[in-house]
Amino acid sequence: MTDDLLPAETDSVDATRALGRALALRLAPGSVVALHGDLGAGKTHLVKGIAEGFGGRTVDVTSPTFTLVHEYATEPPLVHADLYRVEDEAEAGALGLDEWIAAGDAVVVVEWPDRAPGLWPADTLHLHVAHLGGDRRRLSRLP
Ligand code: ADP
Ligand code: MG
Repeated sequence: MTDDLLPAETDSVDATRALGRALALRLAPGSVVALHGDLGAGKTHLVKGIAEGFGGRTVDVTSPTFTLVHEYATEPPLVHADLYRVEDEAEAGALGLDEWIAAGDAVVVVEWPDRAPGLWPADTLHLHVAHLGGDRRRLSRLP
């Protein structure tokens, strides 16, 4: 599904957003994407690109660091979660992501998925964003 796209390297924010738009074309309602990688790797910028790919326009995707989950009225709808501040799986479970996933009508993209490893379906697309130094980043698929 992503074999012809990933791994991919980018050398700018714009290139990462473009990669997100390309990735969006491979996603469908019910897709769950787990975005691994350090703070500042570029996960949120990738999500901006995914939202642009769904919306065909600029969507003001911001890091849901405090609210933890944002929903965007794109097509398909995008649910963006950032679990960085989540303490444990119970707290993550209370965010209702399982309901979004079970409903299957949105694409769910999660930063810091390791905070709640039990929440993600077996067919979750696990991706890693690596900081290569300067403005270079690599997006790759994890097993
Ligand atoms: P994360 O969500 O992984 O913590 P963000 O997407 O919020 O990361 O931030 C990435 C930071 O790295 C931003 O400050 C952005 O300007 C910078 N940056 C530099 N080069 C790139 C690139 N190629 N792709 C994405 N972000 C980049
Ligand atoms: Mg982020």
